[in-house]
Amino acid sequence: KTTRIPLIAGNWKMNLDHLQAVAFVQKLHWTLKDAKHEEGSVEVAVFPPFTDIRSVQTLIDADKIPFALGAQDLSAHDSGAYTGEVSGAFLSKLDVGYVIIGHSERREYHAETDEVVASKVSAALKHGIVPVICVGETAEDLEKHGASAVPAGQLEAALDGVSADADIVVAYEPVWAIGSGQAATPQQAQDVCAVLREVVAKALGADAAARTRILYGGSVKAANIAGFMREPDVDGALVGGASLVVDDFAAIIRFQK
Ligand code: PEP
Repeated sequence: KTTRIPLIAGNWKMNLDHLQAVAFVQKLHWTLKDAKHEEGSVEVAVFPPFTDIRSVQTLIDADKIPFALGAQDLSAHDSGAYTGEVSGAFLSKLDVGYVIIGHSERREYHAETDEVVASKVSAALKHGIVPVICVGETAEDLEKHGASAVPAGQLEAALDGVSADADIVVAYEPVWAIGSGQAATPQQAQDVCAVLREVVAKALGADAAARTRILYGGSVKAANIAGFMREPDVDGALVGGASLVVDDFAAIIRFQK
């Protein structure tokens, strides 16, 4: 765990237009600076809507703001007749380093199957973008199959065809915990993240498993982040609601202090 730099990732979902996004990133940067947040101890990534990415990228670049930039989705295709889609080739030109793939909202509202997720993972890797592969069980899955069976199966499918040296991030997000205010306990998160690390080991080998960051997501806030980060297999958080409030997100980023 000590060799894995924690990643705190803010998934804004469909919130903040490009003007609000720029104001938010500036304010977050200054809040962390004022708090003397030590750069490098934690990696911070923001995942704005597509329409904000160019503006946020320009700001990060101009002001040398140490945040990574991520997208919330990408097309499985490189270019062509796919109306409304955005390709990894376009995103990588805007310094997008990460892309969320298979978020439960996309699986649910856009019918993204494990096969679609796997094809998007390979599209991201092809364009040098690190996929943040989201997996997690619904409340019904939890009752029927326990916590780890569904996320482990989703991850196994997503890693199909991925090479052993690929740079990936996994996010364990129990669907029942997303936006519900009811987070998993640190122990629940640890148990599933440990199983997911084994899935990575089996698919990509022991080195990949040791280096891959596995995040917990689902109602993470300033008051509960430290508990998750104490767990040996939890390497950060994917944060939704609390990533939209500067002081809350800054407090999550500064969890160790
Ligand atoms: C998410 O959607 O990725 C998420 C974790 O949301 P929230 O933090 O609001 O539960």
